[in-house]
Amino acid sequence: MRAWQLTGPGTLELRTVPVPEPGPGEVLVRVGAAGICHSDSFVLGLPFALSPEPLTLGHEIAGTVEVTGPHVPVERVGERGVVYLCWSCGQCRACAAGHENVCHAAGRTAMPPCPGLGPPGGMADFVVVPARAFVPIGDDLDFAQAAPLADAALTSLHAVRGTLDRLGPGSTAVAIGIGGLGHVAVQVLRALTPARVLAVDLTDDKLALARDCGAAATFAAGADTAAAILAQTGGRGAEAVFDFVGTDDTARLAVSVVAPDGAYRMVGLGGGIPGIDAGPAGGPGLPWGATVRKSYAGTRSDLFAAVDLARSGHLTLAVDTFAFADAPAAFDLLDRGRVRGRAVLLP
Ligand code: NAD
Ligand code: ZN
Repeated sequence: MRAWQLTGPGTLELRTVPVPEPGPGEVLVRVGAAGICHSDSFVLGLPFALSPEPLTLGHEIAGTVEVTGPHVPVERVGERGVVYLCWSCGQCRACAAGHENVCHAAGRTAMPPCPGLGPPGGMADFVVVPARAFVPIGDDLDFAQAAPLADAALTSLHAVRGTLDRLGPGSTAVAIGIGGLGHVAVQVLRALTPARVLAVDLTDDKLALARDCGAAATFAAGADTAAAILAQTGGRGAEAVFDFVGTDDTARLAVSVVAPDGAYRMVGLGGGIPGIDAGPAGGPGLPWGATVRKSYAGTRSDLFAAVDLARSGHLTLAVDTFAFADAPAAFDLLDRGRVRGRAVLLP
């Protein structure tokens, strides 16, 4: 089968590899679509190899069960679904409570094995996944819509769900970075809350996408953005701020515009430093009562919810589809900020 593999730092190669066989409790999935996340581009840009062996990328996977392994009901052959990306232990206290994204077996860094970032991923014709990680999508959702649910929607939905108590009538939410994750976050905020959604990005086309997704107002990122957002909220700020970029600039913007008792959620992995201190409110730190959460992926329940939102028409992914062989072109466009929504590879 074909597989896009990371064969060395910065080197993505289309290689022919054997079709894997599902072991006990696993299924072989014929990939119907594979999304490209900014995290893939991050991994491709690392100056060191992530694994000694070639690594098949791809953690946003939708497809059909081709073969079931031992102990998996053979009736699942032919099932259409999307792959939950936290391959957690299922046994620890966190998993028992439904918090598989921070599984104890993953240690303090809490990143359970994730296809395409350890085990072989879905930028291939086939991928083996744990049967319990394969979440059904029914017959109607097409694979290009379903694949980005695995991360772009899962991660955005998880970040938003943790702030629902702040986002009542009259509240404001800010989404920074309207790419794969951010354009979903705007729709999820609209679907789950009465909050007014403000969106920030660099370019007009991304701001137009934010408005298409339901943002009430949009702001080009710049020196005046914080003042403009504060002016929109009577000087108080937003009850929830989601940063899907995570650079110094966006982290500082988030701290500058979050309201007292508000929620600041770090999702983007830009390595930025928000400049929070322990001094009284009014200095460079957070206002009183504000919380920060470094939000990782989501729970299996979040993925079911994302599938339900998509199936019921409350969430429509903007997707740019590419032929499988064109992955390098898709990465190039993503790196240059030219993808509208999510780039998705089709077999
Ligand atoms: P993307 O490239 O699709 O979107 C990023 C968006 O941010 C683009 O629209 C870009 O124009 C915009 N942007 C860049 N710099 C900006 C700035 N200074 N101000 C405002 N907007 C800016 O990326 P994505 O796939 O949506 O991923 C977003 C981030 O989330 C990445 O850092 C990715 O690695 C990370 N991520 C985190 C998790 C998690 O679990 N925490 C999961 C998936 C992705
Ligand atoms: Zn991702």
